[in-house]
Amino acid sequence: MLKPGDTIGILGGGQLARMLTLAAAPLGLKVHIYAPEEDCPAFDVAARRTTGAFDDAHALAVFAKTVDVVTYESENIPTAPLASLEGKVRLSPPLRALALTQDRLHEKTFIRDLGIAVPPFHPVSSPADLEAAIAHTGLPAVLKTRRFGYDGKGQTRITAAADAHGAYAAIGHTPAILEAFVPFACEISVIAARGHDASFTAFDPPENVHRHHILATSTVPATISSSLADQAIQATRRIAEALEYVGTIAVEFFVTGDGELLVNEIAPRVHNSGHWTIEACLVSQFEAHIRAIAHWPLGDTRRTHDAVMTNLIGDDAGQWDRLIAQPATHLHLYGKRHARAGRKMGHVTRLGRPSLT
Ligand code: AMP
Repeated sequence: MLKPGDTIGILGGGQLARMLTLAAAPLGLKVHIYAPEEDCPAFDVAARRTTGAFDDAHALAVFAKTVDVVTYESENIPTAPLASLEGKVRLSPPLRALALTQDRLHEKTFIRDLGIAVPPFHPVSSPADLEAAIAHTGLPAVLKTRRFGYDGKGQTRITAAADAHGAYAAIGHTPAILEAFVPFACEISVIAARGHDASFTAFDPPENVHRHHILATSTVPATISSSLADQAIQATRRIAEALEYVGTIAVEFFVTGDGELLVNEIAPRVHNSGHWTIEACLVSQFEAHIRAIAHWPLGDTRRTHDAVMTNLIGDDAGQWDRLIAQPATHLHLYGKRHARAGRKMGHVTRLGRPSLT
């Protein structure tokens, strides 16, 4: 169990690490960020910073000596160098969760084997596999690289069999999965936290809208029944249990027109669709993660307000002076110097009606 004054090590220095660090401060915990960049959003707010590569085992070992627990802001951190830290410092969530979610084939197989529905999928490791894959999933389908895909990167839609080989060439003939295209009614996510003592708490699931594969808005409450929300929360709980997970976890779901839930993916970390919890819940997803990895009680994650979170992408953040003047609006800017197209620069959370009963 961590004590006030102890230090949390975070691998990665983006906005998620920045908001985790900001959540640790009121609890009296310090943060040491380890990131490959010379300059990153979390460096501005952390007590200690190290610039180092994620595959530099020596630098990681030096970092590990300065902290009481190590956590991550991204699933795309190589696990092999981290494995050498096991036994020297506590890693939370467990490395297995990271390794599993780095590979879409392993991730989807794991979820399906738990008896939780996923879209039909089939592995593709060579152009010859494509025909069998299309026979399995049908068309339209989405071809996704097994590794290092996020925000729609490394994925391409196939609508006609004749396009399949071109699509596989477009993702560089890398190992992939073909997944049935789901004509979903809406997308939701469950953000939940699990403690080392198997305690569990879930936030109210937001409804998420993506534009160009990037999250645009998350809205609570979602337009789904409470029984569907419960079903999604129970599926998330089973996933977290099976991974012996400690920390905040997110599971993204498609909701079909028939009210069926299909898991799209697991994020072994705090999630963009949970940013509204900072102002609209008693304990945020960031604080819940810090509490979980500190082996403290997870806290009361009930929602206090309806809310809409809108991402500020690329040039959107240029409107900060207009946004800061709006009532019931919380502006978050991540301190990134350059606004590139598609880059998450900040977000706003607009609070609606009080909801705590
Ligand atoms: P991903 O990178 O897999 O999370 O995908 C990003 C977004 O692309 C999802 O949130 C969906 O909006 C869309 N998408 C991904 N896979 C599918 C699918 N099989 N069917 C329909 N839309 C999808």
